[in-house]
Amino acid sequence: MTDVQTTTETSDDLTASYDAVIVGAGFAGMYMLHKLRWLGFTARVYDAAGGVGGTWYWNRYPGARCDVQSLDYSFSFDSELEQEWEWTEKFSTQPEILRYANHVADRYDLWQDMQFNTRIEAAHFDEGAGRWIVRTDQGDVVSAQHVVMAVGTLSTPKLPETPGIETYQGETYQTQKWPHEGVDFTGRRVAVIGTGSSAIQSIPLIAEQAAHLTVFQRTPNFSMPAGNRLLDADEVAERRADYPAYRQMARESFFGIPIPGEPKMAFEVSDDERDATYQAGWEAGNLVALIGAYGDILFDKAANDTAAEFIRSKIRDIVDDPEVAEDLCPTDYPVGTKRPCLDTNYYATFNRPNVRLVNLRKTPITQLTPQGIDTSEESFEFDAIVYATGFDAMTGSLVAVNVRGVGGVELKEAWSDGPMTYLGLAVSGFPNFYTVTGPQSPSVLSNMMVSIEQHVDWIADCMVYMRDNGYSTIECTPEDQLAWVEHSSELGDQTLYPLANSWYMGANVPGKPRVFLPYIGGVGPYREKCDQVAANGYEGFKLA
Ligand code: FAD
Ligand code: NAP
Repeated sequence: MTDVQTTTETSDDLTASYDAVIVGAGFAGMYMLHKLRWLGFTARVYDAAGGVGGTWYWNRYPGARCDVQSLDYSFSFDSELEQEWEWTEKFSTQPEILRYANHVADRYDLWQDMQFNTRIEAAHFDEGAGRWIVRTDQGDVVSAQHVVMAVGTLSTPKLPETPGIETYQGETYQTQKWPHEGVDFTGRRVAVIGTGSSAIQSIPLIAEQAAHLTVFQRTPNFSMPAGNRLLDADEVAERRADYPAYRQMARESFFGIPIPGEPKMAFEVSDDERDATYQAGWEAGNLVALIGAYGDILFDKAANDTAAEFIRSKIRDIVDDPEVAEDLCPTDYPVGTKRPCLDTNYYATFNRPNVRLVNLRKTPITQLTPQGIDTSEESFEFDAIVYATGFDAMTGSLVAVNVRGVGGVELKEAWSDGPMTYLGLAVSGFPNFYTVTGPQSPSVLSNMMVSIEQHVDWIADCMVYMRDNGYSTIECTPEDQLAWVEHSSELGDQTLYPLANSWYMGANVPGKPRVFLPYIGGVGPYREKCDQVAANGYEGFKLA
């Protein structure tokens, strides 16, 4: 796509006109469409995928499942939907979550306003008309008053920058774009590169099938047992009976997942009490039980060390070979500052005779070869390589679109030193343009369903306010945006997050500015701020 092509678009090219174009048909785009249509707006959803579900459409690797419990990781906007859908497991599998997404699309008849296998390439703001001109890779050019970017925070896959990657002749797979027909590794020599959440879920299952599995680990992760199990009919009935109150607690909570009681600080209790609390957190099978056990774990290094050491002691207990155990122990960043993981038999998998761990800190990969992978010490041959190497998170899918706002300024340029948003929802210079779970909102630090619903509701309310009051454009002011970015970054600096080379910090993508991308003020307080902005007539925005 070139500038010449995009600037020659005129209103004569238009094939359709909508109140809103929604980019993405994951949970965010689906709910946005439903809500806008219900409010009487016209909207069209575009997705590069062949169906709904976003994350759950693409990430079909073995073992893929949610790690926020299904009874939490689901929509709350319609009590009938909440009551009728049957989750079978504590942490549902990708196929079950995808079935849920399809059920939602059927139930609310979303299909008619969705277009698949269609990528949005450009969105340019036409200042004269006060509308966006949006272009797809299928030749559609449509006009919309509003553009909602429901493009996902973990939707632009990233491969390693390893020399020779294109020369490898065997089969290659990416966890983030797994073949729909599945992969049979029986009898194969398989490599997995990466040890993040996707690798931690897939490694135990690949190991069960492959003749031999070699795991290439650059940074070990802290993982806790998921304790997955079938859901019990009584617990489901109990939750269903209590859903309204429970969901409200989630909305007011810090992570979008209710944690009962006010946590103490780690050193307010005895060593024995702390260990007992960590043991309970370890057994809870809950992403935030251990890191949320004390109020200072994410803020105070000494407090954090106690939790980190507890998990390291578990790794040493589980893994038979002491050297492998040490290689699997994270030591150079605080627990919680890279996204924690929940697993099923991850550490125990390294006790299998057909599994080997290669610690890239000791022997880095030097190149990929036609046969396999070379490290500084060894040449490996593989039948298949699995890249579990993550995403250009939070900003990747936003800047991949050629978005041009007022004065033709490109979003990618505007964000060249890091993203600048107001509330993680809006960008100065880009009127009527919204980012669902955007940078500088709680987003990836939360149960994403709670954050998605909050953003969709806020955006829809904003559009209704504009319609009711005769406004055609809304744009946040540069001053309020800057104040929000500074506030978000100050809060981030008070935590331990900046100590890790994580995707939260943009550190996994070479050249990406190192800034703390999400907002750590907590889901509940953040929601209050957004509500207050709306109640004050969209404080911080210019309406015209
Ligand atoms: P997505 O589901 O990412 O959907 C975005 C869609 O936009 C994609 O289908 C993509 O194709 C489309 N798109 C992007 N750019 C364009 C474009 N230019 N043109 C057209 N289409 C475009 N979160 C949790 O809270 N709990 C969990 O347990 C959890 N588990 C996860 C497991 C995995 C494997 C991954 C990768 C993420 C997980 N997440 C989890 C985060 C997850 O991404 C969110 O929970 C949620 O599914 C995001 O929904 P979304 O609609 O915002 O984005
Ligand atoms: P990730 O957490 O970013 O992990 C990527 C892994 O690849 C890391 O171990 C990384 O090492 C490694 N890596 C990247 N480039 C490499 C290179 N050049 N050489 C060697 N190793 C390299 O990605 P992910 O596992 O896909 O998970 C992303 C996020 O999606 C998660 O954090 C989570 O939010 C979500 N998710 C959730 C679940 C779930 O349980 N429900 C499952 C999957 C994903 P470094 O750490 O050294 O960079």
